[in-house]
Amino acid sequence: METMYIFYDGKIVPENEVHISVRCKGFNYGLGCFEGIRAYWDEPGKQLYGFRMQEHYERLLQSCKTLYIPIPYTADELCRATAELLRKNQCRSTTYIRPLAFKGSNQIAPTLLDDDNRLVIYCQPMGNFAGKDELRVAVTSWERLSDNMLPPRTKPTAAYLNSGLASLEVVRRGYDEALFLTRSGHVCEGPGENVFMVRKGKLVTPPPSDNILEGITRDTVMTLAREELGMEVVERSITRTELYAAEEVFFSGTAMEVVAVVEVDDRTIGSGHQGPVCRQLKELFFQVATAKLKKYAGFCYPVY
Ligand code: PMP
Repeated sequence: METMYIFYDGKIVPENEVHISVRCKGFNYGLGCFEGIRAYWDEPGKQLYGFRMQEHYERLLQSCKTLYIPIPYTADELCRATAELLRKNQCRSTTYIRPLAFKGSNQIAPTLLDDDNRLVIYCQPMGNFAGKDELRVAVTSWERLSDNMLPPRTKPTAAYLNSGLASLEVVRRGYDEALFLTRSGHVCEGPGENVFMVRKGKLVTPPPSDNILEGITRDTVMTLAREELGMEVVERSITRTELYAAEEVFFSGTAMEVVAVVEVDDRTIGSGHQGPVCRQLKELFFQVATAKLKKYAGFCYPVY
């Protein structure tokens, strides 16, 4: 693979010049937090657009604050640094961007109280993440983390062990993706995506108080459903069997984008295929992400 450039410690450098110690606390204790951002390539306009980068970096800064990993940049500076990185790598296809803030310190003590805070940003081309348009999902036996364990509103690296265990469990059983419940048994989210259902014509999704990540794609989907499809959108707790009774279920997330869930726990959802609401929202999402709808031009950060 050709050498990629990454952003590290305020500079853009070749990835193979960066060496991180095996003793680093980010590696040893999971003392880090991250973001996942996509930049969408628009072929007709020959332009790459960072999707809602400002919001992603605001969420990163919020994660950093919660985990005491201060980094010396504003969201605006991080957007500019990311655009520079994408240009340096000559990215001309849809790209996934991974900013990761972590404790670089090498002392063997799990305290967060030191000031060796690092930020790395790397990127790679990314197409359809799920590799399919219709997913078979199962509820995992692993419970979603709660706000007093590892705050789901942030993206701590360590929280993704919970995600990983859930995915591994259901993928080994032959499903495409897992679905978490909360301790109180409410539908929560997938390991890396938010969940929606269409029930009696309304679009319903769990509220932040059910320990979800407040997804940026989720927010985009809710906006598009209200503004463009004229749908009523409700944030409320969902029980597991309500999903079985839904007309449609789908996931939203930066990597996953908008993708239909056609089976939950071996129960067929709706027609057993991607439904009309999911299809329309997916189409709208791609139009917005590639700056085709002027109304949402503010979501798109031109790189070139
Ligand atoms: N939930 C979790 C646990 C996630 O990791 C993600 C991906 N960041 C999401 C939901 C979706 O959030 P977003 O749309 O901001 O990517």
